[in-house]
Amino acid sequence: MDDFTLPCPVADECDACGGDVELDVYEADTQVGVVCMTLCGACFDAGRTPRLSCPGAVKRALRHRGHLVDAGMALPEVA
Ligand SMILES: [Zn+2]
Ligand SMILES: [Zn+2]
Repeated sequence: MDDFTLPCPVADECDACGGDVELDVYEADTQVGVVCMTLCGACFDAGRTPRLSCPGAVKRALRHRGHLVDAGMALPEVA
């Protein structure tokens, strides 16, 4: 996984604490699918993740899927 880079944009602040130190983007599995989130180094080390409401998680999962599709890493959903 060393040279695997997520195609997702890194947010301006940590999704868990709002900090802006050592921001990086990570994937997380939720009950509605895989989402991406921006975490600072401290939150990542502490295993802290943002609490997502269900609609918020769905929105994130869709957005993250869009990132993967844009990067050619996933096929678009066939309706
Ligand atoms: Zn943080
Ligand atoms: Zn993403």
